[in-house]
Amino acid sequence: EVKQQGGNHYTFYTPTCDHELSERIDLEVALRYALEREEFQLYYQPQVSLKTGNIVGAEALLRWKHPQQGMISPMKFIPIAEETGLIEPIGEWVLYQACKDSKAWRSQGLGCLRVAVNLSGRQFRTANLRQKLVQVLLTTGCEPDYLELELTESLLIRDAELSIQQLQALKALGLKIAIDDFGTGYSSLNYLQKFPFDVLKIDQCFVRNLHNNKINAAITQSLISMAHLLNLKVIAEGVETQEELDLLNEFNCNEIQGYLFSRPLNLEEFQALVKSGRKLKVSQPNP
Ligand code: C2E
Ligand code: MG
Ligand code: MG
Ligand code: MG
Repeated sequence: EVKQQGGNHYTFYTPTCDHELSERIDLEVALRYALEREEFQLYYQPQVSLKTGNIVGAEALLRWKHPQQGMISPMKFIPIAEETGLIEPIGEWVLYQACKDSKAWRSQGLGCLRVAVNLSGRQFRTANLRQKLVQVLLTTGCEPDYLELELTESLLIRDAELSIQQLQALKALGLKIAIDDFGTGYSSLNYLQKFPFDVLKIDQCFVRNLHNNKINAAITQSLISMAHLLNLKVIAEGVETQEELDLLNEFNCNEIQGYLFSRPLNLEEFQALVKSGRKLKVSQPNP
């Protein structure tokens, strides 16, 4: 099967069996109606400061409740949304919703919590992304410095010069840029200083079993020092254990996100957690 994506780009699907193909087509059809049927929901995973133990922000994570199949992982449907172009309306919905919620947290006195939104490659390359963002910020009243956009390296290096220009245009709006899943892709250290990032997110594959894996510990420690030299804030993803947390704290990591503190929560659960005032227990940093 050949699908036209516009321009001269074609994607060839080579399903291993008919079942896979029909499942993929079913998902694609259902995805087309998911927005108007209001099947999407944003979940929020707290980002916690290691300095204070307080929640300082949240990453918005998209959830799709398929009418028959139940919850479908974004790892499964985001690539389909990308290939079909559906990511554009879906991504706009995510931005709007996240900014609206983040603004509400401040107006309701829940605290000055920023929100991080994942952008896909296709969204990043949309010519009018900047205008879309301006529109979303104006309609929701969300202050731009409370919005952080998460991008992956593989998405940015494809056309580095153009990416840098686009990032600068977005940053001129006052929002923040985070590099997501750092360490899993191209990871050229040169790009770290070339691109105007504010935040580096260390991928969970380095964080996992940090205390039992000397190599991962060395990589994580040097990534954090290097990020700090470049004036980037560091968030460690996927922190699941106290041992991982203790080492990250020793390495002067700024914030963490992970099951140890909280799984991603729906809006009501997230707000309840913030209201409860629960803090992350952080051991004293080494002298
Ligand atoms: P990501 O941006 O790297 O998000 C982090 C993923 O790690 C999330 O998976 C989160 O639930 C999971 N996670 C967080 N803490 C832990 C932990 O302690 N242990 C483990 N094992 N996992 C943890 P999720 O929600 O399934 O999202 C997967 C990916 O889908 C995201 O990776 C992101 O790339 C993409 N995604 C999610 N929402 C959106 C969206 O609105 N737009 C776009 N373009 N992509 C999205
Ligand atoms: Mg992310
Ligand atoms: Mg990530
Ligand atoms: Mg990831």
